Amino acid sequence: MLCDFGASNKVNSMRTLLRLKLLMSEVRWTMWQNRSSSNSSIRSLESNTSILKHLISKITATGPISVAEYMREALTNPVAGYYVKNDMLGAGGDFITSPEISQIFGELLGVWCVSEWMAAGKSCTFQLVELGPGRGSLASDILRVFSQLKAVLGETDISVHLVEVSPKLSQFQAECLTGDKTQTCNDDQLAYRSGTTRTGLPIYWYRRIEDVPRGFSVFLAHEFFDALPIHKFQRTEKGWREVMVDIDPESPEKLRFVVSHSPTLASSILIQNDDRRQHVEVCPEGGVIVQKLANRIAEDGGSALVVDYGHDGTKTDTFRGFKGHQLHNVLEAPGMADLTADVDFSYLRKMTGNEVTCLGPVTQRSFLKNMGIDSRLQVLLRNCHDPSARAQLIHSYDMLINPEKMGLRFQFFSVLNRGRLAQYRGMQKNTAPVAGFAELDMQ
Ligand code: SAH
Repeated sequence: MLCDFGASNKVNSMRTLLRLKLLMSEVRWTMWQNRSSSNSSIRSLESNTSILKHLISKITATGPISVAEYMREALTNPVAGYYVKNDMLGAGGDFITSPEISQIFGELLGVWCVSEWMAAGKSCTFQLVELGPGRGSLASDILRVFSQLKAVLGETDISVHLVEVSPKLSQFQAECLTGDKTQTCNDDQLAYRSGTTRTGLPIYWYRRIEDVPRGFSVFLAHEFFDALPIHKFQRTEKGWREVMVDIDPESPEKLRFVVSHSPTLASSILIQNDDRRQHVEVCPEGGVIVQKLANRIAEDGGSALVVDYGHDGTKTDTFRGFKGHQLHNVLEAPGMADLTADVDFSYLRKMTGNEVTCLGPVTQRSFLKNMGIDSRLQVLLRNCHDPSARAQLIHSYDMLINPEKMGLRFQFFSVLNRGRLAQYRGMQKNTAPVAGFAELDMQ
């Protein structure tokens, strides 16, 4: 149900919102310490060979497997998968992400969520849904903004919904967001864990997006889509062929890539006829998830913000492994290293269909600048007198927006309810009113 909210009110409230966000001047110094603490002690070692052994017996029995199956087993095998067993984030882990680098990142995304909720008509219920929340840092920073903006959010019925496949990471999220005050849910419930956030909101954990209740929602996916399994295809003289994972005949304990002799089901259905690249990666699971988001946004209202490194249908071989912040051979020690592939935003856009509007991708630098990262930094610096905290703030700001660091590599892509921009159709592109997106690319 939408509360009554006129257009001029909308503009005034947006301004209030932007002013309000500048009032929040607290520097989360303790978070810096938490966020950079070493987590190597809890990293699991026993999964090293179990997935490799399992894959080798499987390939021996039934032949080469797709890269997607390899990636799915390595990352989310329910017993020994990388995400299921490890805490991989932060300085002591394998990679570090923007929400872990700076509180400003989550705060600006929090302001984005509230401004989208306002612009969409201030729905009386508001679900914040995050896919793959890692350690919970992004949600934690967003919930702090929600508390600061209580006057704007009023009596809105807000709830938090996390889609997380990893039991280990869901524990971290529970600790970070609730102080570990959560209950395990019964098998007949769709959520597997529930509780109350430190800020007093109901919070739930699910394994799949379809288990999240229907209703007006803002969906966030930060470095989530790049972790979903991809199929890889190679153009050959005989046409497109799928790249598979096989046992290395020279060394039967190792794996190698091979190109399938004949078409596979995936190579027959996933490749676009007009694609001109020599090598293509397709993530059908990402396509299905974005389709589900789009259907919900079309039917229930709301929006989605997908943030990841990626391209617009131009890149070829982007499949990589990371371990201890170093590049790692993707076929070595499955389950022990992060595996990732750049997100193809053109594919996601195509999969959303015609019932929603897509914006972007725009670069992280441009999105965060449009959201006012410079003023936010100045406010925090003005209120922070500890020299090392000040240096850290400046350093992390630079990490986020420097074109040579994360500024251009990371992209922001949004899916909106079609009604959201209906009244602005025909307006000049760079004046359309979606926070963060200076340029609009309306479908
Ligand atoms: N968003 C966080 C973490 C990124 S790592 C950040 O930016 O810091 C990827 C996250 O997605 C982890 O929480 C991982 O457990 C989760 N994940 C990976 N595959 C998943 C899947 N298929 N379903 C649900 N969560 C998944």
